Amino acid sequence: MERKRAIVYDPPLPHSYSREMLVFDRGEGIYLYDVEGKRYLDFGAGIAVNALGYGREDLAEVAATQMRKLIHTSNLFTTEPTLRLASRLLSLGDFDAVHFGNSGTEANEAALKFARLYAFRTRGAGHAKLLCFDNGFHGRTMGALSVTPNPAYKEPFEPLVPEVEVLPYNDPDTLAATLDASYAGVIVEVVQGEGGLRVMSQEFAAALNEACSRHDVMLIADEVQTGLGRTGFALASEGFGLEPDIVTLAKPLGGGLPLSATLIPAKINTLLQVGDHGSTFGGGPVTAAVSNTILDALLDPEFLIEIQHKSQVLEQGLEELRSGSDLVVELRGTGLLRGLALDPEKAALSAEILQAARAKGLVLLRSGKNVIRIAPPLIITPEQIQEGIHFLDQVLREIGR
Ligand code: PLP
Repeated sequence: MERKRAIVYDPPLPHSYSREMLVFDRGEGIYLYDVEGKRYLDFGAGIAVNALGYGREDLAEVAATQMRKLIHTSNLFTTEPTLRLASRLLSLGDFDAVHFGNSGTEANEAALKFARLYAFRTRGAGHAKLLCFDNGFHGRTMGALSVTPNPAYKEPFEPLVPEVEVLPYNDPDTLAATLDASYAGVIVEVVQGEGGLRVMSQEFAAALNEACSRHDVMLIADEVQTGLGRTGFALASEGFGLEPDIVTLAKPLGGGLPLSATLIPAKINTLLQVGDHGSTFGGGPVTAAVSNTILDALLDPEFLIEIQHKSQVLEQGLEELRSGSDLVVELRGTGLLRGLALDPEKAALSAEILQAARAKGLVLLRSGKNVIRIAPPLIITPEQIQEGIHFLDQVLREIGR
């Protein structure tokens, strides 16, 4: 391991991660500071996690208080913070129970298992197929990976879970012609967070609702990245007319602590028996207590309206960058989850853009090969959005637009 100022080369982490990493020390508001004290405006939020930004005394206090009282009980018992959190999450839709886990991929594993269990216990064996979509991303564990079509993620780990079909995203006709009762579940993102930031069309949402309800196939909305305010709605599904049976949540739910939730309807819950699924750590009292404080902010209707306003500021700023650039061919995404799609021929420049931004003190993300992803903490102000756009403009100029 070699260390040069705030950069570490060849860290003792698996080679599946970058060989060169920036070492952060602390954060304040929407700014991060590396170990040398250099400040970065954060347009990444720890991959769309840190919705309320950094240095939150309230979250630290809630976590410390709960840690002193009780850290862990296992899923054989429960606690007040967990019960409160579950009840609040139920109010996001027509749900009957919440399964807690620790990561997005686990939330999706649970969703896929519940969908198969529902089909098995209502229709018997032979109705286990799962449907997913091109450029979708649902996680890295075997089940979630099986419904993540990107060959680069999957190939070395095959064979994966069988009976998975992949269809084009936003293609209502192909969906209608394919789906039948041999399927247990359909898993889909409202905005394809990792796969290029394409947004679900109203027609596709309607077709998903119609086909899944017609064949009694569980419609799973993976809202791991889009849920809890990122798009200006409590659930992005709500904003796009999708009516899922199951919703999965993670990233902002624990405010940076590992916590995920799989929201299920009564018709699945009534079929579940003790031992069908479980998690030792999921929804423990510390993460749940922190999450309750996070939800006070994220589910406040005024906060969500503010996000919609700030989203317009971001959109307008990015649109100006796009119109003045040969390199940026399309603006993607919605809310505070946006993308600048680069000319696919010049996809390699995306790495240079991230590097140049970092040198200027701006943290950016990527989505797919050629999309620069912007997902700031949701507490960002319009002025801070402009500051980030200004950096981005400079970076694009440097790279040659
Ligand atoms: N689903 C979506 C839509 C995601 O964006 C991600 C992560 O980026 C996941 C699932 C996997 O979440 P995790 O990395 O917490 O397992």
